[in-house]
Amino acid sequence: MLPAVARGHLGWFHPCARLSVRMSSTGIDRKGILAERVAMVTGSTSGIGFAIARRLAQDGAHVVISSRKQQNVDRAVAQLQREGLSMAGTVCHVGKAEDRERLVATALEHCGAVDFLVCCAGVNPLVGSVLGTSEQIWDKILNVNVKSPALLLSQLLPYMEKRKGAVTLVSSIAAYFPAAELGVYNVSKTALLALTRTLALELAPKDIRVNCLVPGIIKTDFSKVLRGNESVCKYLREHHQMQRFGEPEDCAGIVSFLCSPDASYITGENIAVAGFSSRL
Ligand code: NAP
Repeated sequence: MLPAVARGHLGWFHPCARLSVRMSSTGIDRKGILAERVAMVTGSTSGIGFAIARRLAQDGAHVVISSRKQQNVDRAVAQLQREGLSMAGTVCHVGKAEDRERLVATALEHCGAVDFLVCCAGVNPLVGSVLGTSEQIWDKILNVNVKSPALLLSQLLPYMEKRKGAVTLVSSIAAYFPAAELGVYNVSKTALLALTRTLALELAPKDIRVNCLVPGIIKTDFSKVLRGNESVCKYLREHHQMQRFGEPEDCAGIVSFLCSPDASYITGENIAVAGFSSRL
């Protein structure tokens, strides 16, 4: 029987019809700087992950997208394939070991290896104080936001070796400027900064780079509550140099760059895309 990913998407990857052109740092125009590379993006059927998946594919990569809900995967794959992009997808709740295994198996079955892993899936099921948080919620946030990228990467590592690949974790500006309302989420996103540096150190001998995208407030479903919060808006009016919320696409180009050979000597970095400086 075909895995869930195949339902409605027989045909899988197909050559990218529309590749973007980017000027490389060497000044030479190159079509599809990620051509023939394979990218896996978690939490990628909407928001930031979706924009990243689209951009990696526009830059030439074959992309495997995933999220928890089959209908979201089907919709996102269909939309991106209609745009002529090389795309497949499967259901993967990153907190579930069997789903992670299926995601890896799906990518291998259809692509043979993986070059880039982008861990975008993240949750914030509780808005409130750290000390009022139940053990169950602690476990859920840390499992999905912090443990799952490391566990998925360990499963994928044997298939990423010798390919000069790259990993991008997705933290949050809340790691630098914790908001009282975000409690354990702040903690989990700060842990990702440490995970980035630790993995970068561990994987440097294998020529795999690990960096971290640190988004500010980006216009997605995830941030709706924050964007409607008066104290957040007040903070932005006072401190936010660019005076606007970000768009998911604002986060996409930098991830493509971090995957590309132009970033071949960049690892262990946390890069804010926030409309203001993350420096303390
Ligand atoms: P979003 O628009 O709500 O999209 C979330 C995506 O992740 C969806 O595709 C969702 O699809 C999937 N997802 C949710 N839980 C998942 C899980 N356990 N396993 C796998 N997939 C899951 O959110 P977003 O704003 O793009 O956020 C993406 C990442 O950026 C998160 O890690 C978040 O912490 C981070 N971030 C966001 C902002 C912001 O302002 N938006 C700022 C800083 C950092 P399903 O429902 O089908 O699973």
